[in-house]
Amino acid sequence: LSKKMSLFTESVIRHMTRISDECNAINLSQGFPDFDPPKPLMDRLAQVAYEGPHQYSVTWGAPNFRQALAEVRSRQFGRQIDPDTNVVVTCGSTEAMMAAVMTIVNPGEKVIVFSPFYENYSADAILSGAEPIYVPLYPPEFNFNPDELEAAFKQNPKALILCNPSNPCGKVFTYSELKFIASLAEKYDTYVITDEVYEHIIYKPNVHTYFASLPGMFERTVTCGSLSKTYSITGWRLGHVVAPAAIIEGIQKVHDFLTVGAPSPLQEAAIVGLKFPQQYYDELQSIYTQKRTLFCDGLDRLGIAHTKPQGAYYVLLNIAEYGYESDTEFCEMLTRKAGVAAVPGSSFFREPVNYLIRLHFAKSDALLNEALTRLEKMP
Ligand code: GLN
Repeated sequence: LSKKMSLFTESVIRHMTRISDECNAINLSQGFPDFDPPKPLMDRLAQVAYEGPHQYSVTWGAPNFRQALAEVRSRQFGRQIDPDTNVVVTCGSTEAMMAAVMTIVNPGEKVIVFSPFYENYSADAILSGAEPIYVPLYPPEFNFNPDELEAAFKQNPKALILCNPSNPCGKVFTYSELKFIASLAEKYDTYVITDEVYEHIIYKPNVHTYFASLPGMFERTVTCGSLSKTYSITGWRLGHVVAPAAIIEGIQKVHDFLTVGAPSPLQEAAIVGLKFPQQYYDELQSIYTQKRTLFCDGLDRLGIAHTKPQGAYYVLLNIAEYGYESDTEFCEMLTRKAGVAAVPGSSFFREPVNYLIRLHFAKSDALLNEALTRLEKMP
């Protein structure tokens, strides 16, 4: 096997899902909802099953999907996004991020990653030969130290990866933090690759700012997004990249040879979602706000210390008091004995952290209540 293979392990998140399935546990590890997508998407998919398309779409995405997405991003970024030169439709944002890093970064070049981080980024870096520079986000607010960030920029990085809202810590970067990052990106001539898949899962009073919408930033930003979380269709594998034309040319090539294209029938069916009115996003926000309250209040009642996310649907629980040697051991016990699957926090941190586990609350209220009951009765 290639040397790269010894540099990363399989995804711990997906590993926990397999253990969870084996034990028939409540799977609060891999973050995906247990509820249906909006009915208009399911109805349209049923129709598409008979009407097609069933063959490849244009490699970089069906023209009508790109058109709909370009309209959405144009509104969000406050500038005209061209469906032909600024958009590539990918197989989830997982492919979007990988293609972005491969397109931008040469082997041996550096990439800034905030820690904690979503585990895919280290694999993205390793597979493209990039070398991550980790910059810590400090709990409880998960703020970065501006001097530490600038010190990372001084190491001549090619890009910074920005997960906003952040998985797993739930941080929503403020406008002034983003402006500061933007000033460094400009000063040190660095690209910013964003992962904004939780853009619509934001808790008031926090507000999501698209990095590409900041003055002067569109030219150096690669915005990766997804329909997975916004429309509860993680299995459809629809993601996308929006970037300046010169970058998109590169991403088109990488994407073409990685996957040829995202599934055409699913692109066709998902267009109805891209055309939903604002009301849909308000409702999504209120559903997740209510789930966050249910789950966080439940954890408070149990006396378990935890983060309260500003965005996305993950909570980090402090398990120090349970006296386990490692978070991995604790998660195995929790899944096998208590019937609740979680992800060991160590898989998200560069620093040696063994006292946190990640749970998500994108589940029915009944299941969340059952999970809380199981946590209470934990052996
Ligand atoms: N982003 C989700 C998580 O962190 C799902 C990841 C995945 O398996 N694609 O759990």
